[in-house]
Amino acid sequence: MALTKRQSEELAKQTFEYAPAPESTDFVKIEPSYNLFIGGKMVAAHSKKHFPTINPATEQKLSEVVEADEVDVDRAVKAADEAFDSWSRMAPSRRARYIFRISRILQERARELAVVETMDGGKPIKESRDVDIPLAAAHFFYYAGWADKLEWAFPNRKPRPLGVAGQVIPWNFPLLMLAWKIAPALAAGNTVVLKPAETTPLSALLFADICMQAELPPGVVNIVTGGGKTGSLVVTHPGVRKVAFTGSTEVGKLIQRSLAGTGKRLTLELGGKAANIVFDDAPLDAAVEGIVNGIYFNQGHVCCAGSRLLVQESIAEPLLEKLKLRLGTLRLGDPLDKNTDIGAINSKAQLEKIESLVESGIEEGAEIFQPECKLPERGYWFPPTLFTNVSQSYRIAREEIFGPVLSVLTFRTPAEAVEKANNTPYGLSAGVWTDKGSRILWMAERMRAGVVWANTFNRFDPTSPFGGYKESGFGREGGRHGLLPYLELV
Ligand code: NAP
Ligand code: MG
Repeated sequence: MALTKRQSEELAKQTFEYAPAPESTDFVKIEPSYNLFIGGKMVAAHSKKHFPTINPATEQKLSEVVEADEVDVDRAVKAADEAFDSWSRMAPSRRARYIFRISRILQERARELAVVETMDGGKPIKESRDVDIPLAAAHFFYYAGWADKLEWAFPNRKPRPLGVAGQVIPWNFPLLMLAWKIAPALAAGNTVVLKPAETTPLSALLFADICMQAELPPGVVNIVTGGGKTGSLVVTHPGVRKVAFTGSTEVGKLIQRSLAGTGKRLTLELGGKAANIVFDDAPLDAAVEGIVNGIYFNQGHVCCAGSRLLVQESIAEPLLEKLKLRLGTLRLGDPLDKNTDIGAINSKAQLEKIESLVESGIEEGAEIFQPECKLPERGYWFPPTLFTNVSQSYRIAREEIFGPVLSVLTFRTPAEAVEKANNTPYGLSAGVWTDKGSRILWMAERMRAGVVWANTFNRFDPTSPFGGYKESGFGREGGRHGLLPYLELV
């Protein structure tokens, strides 16, 4: 029997109690401290400085890692440089086999990697298990396939690797960003020095173990841990021929300035403030799921998050009503629990940044909505938040919050939607929800965004290029395009 509208509304308001379903951590072994991965083995660092990495959901210390210094980074670059000669000359099909082997081991050890990723970074286990780790493995699979087909990828050209790639990644998708960086670099015949983010170094150190397990030739991949200083030592090292950076626009600009005139190749994947645009003919329930996935996935720590909802005025009311109901059903809490939708904020510093931007939204006059939500006592948490009554000039509509905070704006015509969507210094992604194929194409043509999703959001695929316009950076990762930054075409 079909439910009446009233009955289904009542049902939607009910919150269900879920029994705890924590993922086991028994099979995960986190060492009390880690060395650096240089020249194919874990080696004692020159630097005597260490720092802790914590679990942001509990504030408990998980391990200690090295803050690599100039001597350490120099050793890593030298090891990568020494390995380059034989790695780049190796028969491409053999190189492919190593990369395939890495992806197979990533799959075999997926559960362990997912748990470590969740403990170190705070993201829900269902996301690390179903998104981060499978996509990381898929990336290696995909680029393994290209390793012996580079001449077909770029017909009538001679693709040649560049040398040592220096790569610096952020904390929001630690292993996945590592895969985006390392897989195409290796497939193209380069060697790598990678620095993971300060708050999430553990999956990269597990990856070092996977490189050893795969018997990857020593020095092809090197992992140095540390903070911003170590990152800047990696990218400015004269032995590095190509720099790949994912992180904030601010640091991206700094790196671009420091590399000017060095002849080093550079790709930057930076911040975003994406518009998720819902037209009046969109299927509303599907759109609500897309909006939730767009901004609350990974606590909104997503560079391409749909942080600005642009909704056509005529449907704003029913859509927001549905959206608010849906927010009330999101479960926030223990990231290791398989039912958790919203995990911990990655760090105290990030939490403070979110809090201060949300405060500015209230002060500037926006109306805040947060569902009833009990935050755990320890750890860093922020409830799913939605702002209406937002003007384009407000900071919450212009600046990247990088948290579970959505700003809602309205529009009347498609032209106004385009105008508002593009009214941002960023240009990483956008979403369009409509029933009409012609409108999707019309919109996609006019969006200044690297990726435009149609009737979906936050979909990633290794075969599809990803990257930005304007202050979101330049260069593409993924797909055949993702090989290009790692090759010289003669
Ligand atoms: P971040 O401060 O720029 O840090 C990114 C990485 O760079 C970290 O490993 C960081 O080390 C390192 N770093 C900091 N200062 C450096 C310097 N002067 N030279 C070289 N490396 C340096 O950004 P974040 O706060 O970690 O990440 C959030 C930002 O990343 C957001 O703005 C987000 O939009 C962006 N992001 C973009 C994409 C994309 O694909 N476009 C993907 C993910 C994230 P520490 O760990 O010590 O800070
Ligand atoms: Mg951590």
